[in-house]
Amino acid sequence: DSFQEVVVKIERRTYKKPFLGGFRNMSTGVEFHNAGSQTKPKKRPDKGIQLFCKETQTVEEKNKQQQTRNTTSTQMTQIGIYVSNMTDKLITPGKYFTAEEYHKHRLEAVIVLQKYFRRWHAINLVQNLMEQKRLRLAREAQEELQKKREKEEKLRREYEKKLNPKTKEDFELLYHDLELWMQEETEQINRTLTGAERKAALCALLEEETELIACFGMHKLNANVENQPKAILQLLSKCAQPRRWKAFDGKITEMDTQNTLRGKELLEIYRSISTKDIPKDERTSVLLTLKCTVQGHECKLTQEIVALIDREVDLMSREVKECNLEGLRKRICTLFLQYIKIPEFNPEVAGLLKVPQDPLQLYKKVYFCHSCENYLPSTEFPIPANSRTIGRCRSCYQLDNEARKREAYFKYRLILENLRKSEVDYQDDTKIVFLVQLPDMKYLTESIWNCQSALSACSDLYELVMVRWDKQREWSPWNTILLTKEEADAHLKLCNLQKAYEAPFIYKIKQKHIRAKNYFAQFPAMSSFLHRSNNQANANSYK
Ligand SMILES: [Zn+2]
Repeated sequence: DSFQEVVVKIERRTYKKPFLGGFRNMSTGVEFHNAGSQTKPKKRPDKGIQLFCKETQTVEEKNKQQQTRNTTSTQMTQIGIYVSNMTDKLITPGKYFTAEEYHKHRLEAVIVLQKYFRRWHAINLVQNLMEQKRLRLAREAQEELQKKREKEEKLRREYEKKLNPKTKEDFELLYHDLELWMQEETEQINRTLTGAERKAALCALLEEETELIACFGMHKLNANVENQPKAILQLLSKCAQPRRWKAFDGKITEMDTQNTLRGKELLEIYRSISTKDIPKDERTSVLLTLKCTVQGHECKLTQEIVALIDREVDLMSREVKECNLEGLRKRICTLFLQYIKIPEFNPEVAGLLKVPQDPLQLYKKVYFCHSCENYLPSTEFPIPANSRTIGRCRSCYQLDNEARKREAYFKYRLILENLRKSEVDYQDDTKIVFLVQLPDMKYLTESIWNCQSALSACSDLYELVMVRWDKQREWSPWNTILLTKEEADAHLKLCNLQKAYEAPFIYKIKQKHIRAKNYFAQFPAMSSFLHRSNNQANANSYK
């Protein structure tokens, strides 16, 4: 009777056993449940084939009815039936060709089609290109012609200006030319002649120069006579101009005030009163209008004007000759101009008069010119960037220039004006360009950039413009390059200067910038900007 203990391992199910049904003894009421096996089902060996997948289990099944084909049949001639063979066709097999041959044939056909298409395409393309080329050549020729014409026009205008000088600039150019001519002549005399002959020739030259200068003076007097009425009309039209301002969207709004309307009225009257050779009745009506306008204010001046008007009307009614009335008309004109220039009668003129109404304003802005010993407003003093004192006034500078150096600043003024305009367009609050004055610009152009384009060495100053070297930073004498207009346009389109230019060129430009820095560092106003730009450059190099 030996027994053995056997350890039975019970594997606990991880899930709840399902209820599989059962029964109940009716008499005792005992419940019996059907039992399931406890052993796990045997796993089928994995054959490496996926037996079920999501697609088959979620497939949408469809049922569709379909009609089968009509059944057909053939009938042959045989005993008891005759079928006509009239419509029968005899078909003989063609040449047999393989699939390979078929595909080859297709390919050849495709190639032929492609050839035609490509030919057509190429013709189109070439014609298009030729048309473009033609248009471009035509445009270039047009531009060239335009440029040539502009140049001729400019030369003509310059010649015209020198022949009939009108403005300060014209005279500046004239004196400049005179100086050049003098230098040339003197040089020639020094080269060819000696001793007493040389002295005589120099004397003759000096005499010629004096004659020419006297001639310029005559022209200047004439120009002044011509310019005076223009200046008066300009002043009056300034009084008549409506107030205008620019809105944020660039549109310009104009507004007439009571004062500008008054200015306009006076301008119109002045215009008609100063016109010569108008019929008598018209003149009379103009005079009457003037009388009405002036009579509103009773004072000595208006009384005088009214008296003169009465006299003219009286004389005209007595059929006095026109030429004898000229002096009287001039007097009326002059007195009326005096009337217009009084702010009480023409309020708009107050801001435009050289001598302000409020004497207190004079104390702040008036400086003494040691050269001509005049007291002048601050705007009359051109102050170069390197000056420490107020110096001489504009007209003294001009006189000195005419007498000695005879420099023509006109071309530099063009360059500077162009530069200022383009700098304003950048809208990044640039300041240095407005500190630079004409003499500084002249030095920069002549001594540092040798009056020629850095790229093409074009030396026509009318063609040249100064632009930023690095367009990200504001213009300054040490961030600039002198180029022709076309070159400048191309230069400003560049994104990476280091890649666009060769190293020696960049080195050359940098040298010029360093020279400009050294020169402008002497100016007190400039040096602060110089430090700032140095800091900026350092900051950039640390990045
Ligand atoms: Zn002066």
